[in-house]
Amino acid sequence: MKHQPQSNSCQHLGLASSKVGEVMICPECGVVHLSLNHVSLRFDVDAFRTLAYMLAEAQLNIESFDAHLKKRQDSSTTAVFDSPPGKKMH
Ligand SMILES: [Zn+2]
Repeated sequence: MKHQPQSNSCQHLGLASSKVGEVMICPECGVVHLSLNHVSLRFDVDAFRTLAYMLAEAQLNIESFDAHLKKRQDSSTTAVFDSPPGKKMH
């Protein structure tokens, strides 16, 4: 029979882990536990799915942001190399 979420009978199954924390689920009450260094968060499965999509979207945005920054750095580097000869410092 079902138990109350976060009861002592919760059996946590590991779903994923990394250097920043881990994700576990109690299949019986459908609670997903996200454990980070000093923080532990609980979600129901739907809420966790929403969180996961949100994080994935954020990561995609970070990567495009990084690519944008890298492109700017590359172009400024290129500009240095493109400076006409004769103006180089000796
Ligand atoms: Zn449980």
